[in-house]
Amino acid sequence: MKGFAMLEIGKTGWIEKDTPKCGPLDAIVKPLAVSPCTSDVHTVWEGALGDRHDMILGHEAVGEVVEVGAMVKEFKPGDKVIVPAITPDWGALESQAGYSTHSGGMLAGWKFSNFKDGVFAECFHVNEADANLALMPEGMDILDAVMLCDMAPTGFHGAELADVQLGDKVCVIGIGPVGLMGVAGAVLKGASELYAVGSRKVCADTALEFGATDIINYKEGDIVEQVLAKTGGKGVDRVIIAGGDADTMIQAVTMLKPGGVIGNVNYLGSGEFVKVPRVEWGCGMGHKTIRGGLMPGGRLRMEKLGSLVMTGRIKPSKLVTHKFNGFEHMEESLLLMKDKPRDLIKPVVLL
Ligand code: NDP
Ligand code: ZN
Repeated sequence: MKGFAMLEIGKTGWIEKDTPKCGPLDAIVKPLAVSPCTSDVHTVWEGALGDRHDMILGHEAVGEVVEVGAMVKEFKPGDKVIVPAITPDWGALESQAGYSTHSGGMLAGWKFSNFKDGVFAECFHVNEADANLALMPEGMDILDAVMLCDMAPTGFHGAELADVQLGDKVCVIGIGPVGLMGVAGAVLKGASELYAVGSRKVCADTALEFGATDIINYKEGDIVEQVLAKTGGKGVDRVIIAGGDADTMIQAVTMLKPGGVIGNVNYLGSGEFVKVPRVEWGCGMGHKTIRGGLMPGGRLRMEKLGSLVMTGRIKPSKLVTHKFNGFEHMEESLLLMKDKPRDLIKPVVLL
């Protein structure tokens, strides 16, 4: 089969590979819609996962089941499915402890385009199909469905990690597709004032549509000062981080009220340490909690997100600004994610 791969750090291209084999609990799926992720960009151009060779990219796909293993009960060939970016081993001790993301080791629940070939291929392998696939609800727009693989569950995980409570003032730092779903998640969880930090107009407009009350442009001055000015010097109850770099943590801690919580889903790709400002962290006694996580994946989460779409509570397809037809546009769509033109939120390739 053909797949669009990372050939080495900084280089992508089409390669031929053997069709993956289906284990007794597994499924083989043919993609119907895929989307490149900022994480694919980190993988290829920043070598985030190390020096990988000929690894098929991609971890966001909606597809059709073509084969299931003998022990799979809930799915059959022909089923249309949403495939979460994170597909844990559900029997692992880490999963039993509540951290499926880390089943088998730190971040090891992230398998596609990390520990095995990803979804930008004629077909791909899904481990533990019954636990990791979700049927695409009848009548769901495929563009909504493909945004449920990673963007919605990751952004929502930011809101979960930050533990947003009814009436909280929330700042979402970074409003690319992940942060925008963080905005939507924080609103669903009951945020009142919601400060969304970004500079692209299309993202700012979407943040307002998703329920942000104020836009803060990090290119027009220090974001801490801007947030403090808007909150009478008090700061916010919760911060969701979905953009910036390791130093963004300093800003998040500084703008957070005592007792507040930070939920980070941003990939911190450079620098050796993440710094916490001593005085702003209450000299170690400020009750300011810092959490960071990769979304947990799995079928239940996908089904719940599907219900949010079907009941009209979220419309993640609003993230899709660029739509392509055919695998020949794979490279173009990935490069869009790398170059982030001002009118881009998220591209999708329909197959
Ligand atoms: P984007 O690059 O599309 O968005 C990043 C956002 O951060 C933009 O709004 C950008 O503003 C803003 N930003 C950039 N620099 C700064 C800064 N210095 N201060 C404040 N804001 C800034 O990324 P995605 O939304 O696609 O992904 C966000 C992150 O989430 C990535 O690191 C990605 O790897 C990670 N990720 C994590 C996952 C997880 O499970 N934990 C899964 C998927 C992704 P603008 O462009 O408007 O100028
Ligand atoms: Zn992703």
